[in-house]
Amino acid sequence: MAGCLCPDAHVDTWITADRDHCWHPFTRQGEWEKTDPLVLVGGSGVWLTDSKGRKYIDGNASIWTNIHGHGHPVISQAIKDQLDQVAHTSYLGFANPRASELAERLCGFFPDSGLERVFYSDDGSTAVECAVKMAIQYRLQTGEPDRTEFIAFDQCYHGDTMGAASLGGVGAFFERFRKFGFPVQHVRDLDELLAVSPEQIGRTAAVVIEPLVQGVNQIRPWPEGMLRAIRHWCDQHGVHLILDEVMTGFGRTGSMFACQREEVVPDFLCLAKGLTGGYLPLAATLVQAEIYQGFLGGAEKAFYYGHSYTANQLGCAAALANLDLFEQEQTLELLPEKVDLLGRLLNELAERSDLVIEIRQCGLVAGGELRAPDGSAFPVTDRVGETVCLLARDHGLLTRAILDTVVVLPPLSITADEIRHLCAALEAAINDWSHEQTF
Ligand SMILES: *Cc1c(COP(=O)(O)O)cnc(C)c1O
Repeated sequence: MAGCLCPDAHVDTWITADRDHCWHPFTRQGEWEKTDPLVLVGGSGVWLTDSKGRKYIDGNASIWTNIHGHGHPVISQAIKDQLDQVAHTSYLGFANPRASELAERLCGFFPDSGLERVFYSDDGSTAVECAVKMAIQYRLQTGEPDRTEFIAFDQCYHGDTMGAASLGGVGAFFERFRKFGFPVQHVRDLDELLAVSPEQIGRTAAVVIEPLVQGVNQIRPWPEGMLRAIRHWCDQHGVHLILDEVMTGFGRTGSMFACQREEVVPDFLCLAKGLTGGYLPLAATLVQAEIYQGFLGGAEKAFYYGHSYTANQLGCAAALANLDLFEQEQTLELLPEKVDLLGRLLNELAERSDLVIEIRQCGLVAGGELRAPDGSAFPVTDRVGETVCLLARDHGLLTRAILDTVVVLPPLSITADEIRHLCAALEAAINDWSHEQTF
């Protein structure tokens, strides 16, 4: 069968090559090498297909990136059309049509707000990375050279490149690198921010936050009104506000951007994951005109930062199609019903199950926290959340847990029937797990 492209013929060689040569993110490789990984070969709508032909709902939106489903003809066509023109050209010294159009569209979401300059990069981490570096450099060249520190929140996650990682509040990921990064003070909540000393404020360039909901912190929504209060505090103290909407952007929380829910305009807005609908890596950092102006002048004022694939034309074409689809498919208009249904079904599940202690939700982002029937947390080493997610595969659901919180974050294009399937699969997996336990 030379030349046969049917997946099965290759599965074993893919798995062997993975075992021998690949290194996966956030993965205990020692264990990984001993298991047969699921090999994903296809996708259509919210469904993914593995190398054995089994289908699963993409309950984690391919690590929070997918918006309108896989294999969407409009996004696929936009990428193919762009490919017929050119795939990639340097953004260093040249403009390109798709990047120009996209920048205009993105700024168009914030008319008359000053948020009118777009800096492109590749990932969520780099979107934050360049915001942090811009925030520092702006102070250095506008007469506030001592104002170069940051305030971030406990358990926050802003990515893994060094600057973004120095903001991170998840000890297990970031503590060992702490001394190599930018100086950051972590606060727990709004009250602690309001209590920051005048000396510290005098050293602070910017506050950084994931607006409305912290994702990696086991899907934890912030109190209503908090974002607006932070904006007010920043204005009072001349501190910039960096919003990391890498996860919350593009409809996730119910509006196009989470900051719009509290009528807040940031000084820096970091976008990535959903920007291309989950098709290609592309990121954008939107910046206030006033900050941009701080970089005008001689060579010493330029922002010496960039990546080879900055403003990749294929990525920008995908992003434009992604935005078109929000209009064509009325994505935001159809969302409230889906958000309600998901919330209702998950809460009903929690009522039936004495293992689901809490459902946390913000738009089409939800987490169900698992605990023992007596309400105590499971030992971390039991890895209950992870085990439940593995069991869910047998019921046609792919998702991930963060500690013992199972994340439900499907593409926004998910239908009511698919939401029902997802919740039923999750419940079946939890039941499978509990049947094996003796409480
Ligand atoms: C995923 C994520 C990032 C990092 O984005 P990458 O594309 O993985 O580099 C940053 N911030 C938040 C809030 C995220 O969810």
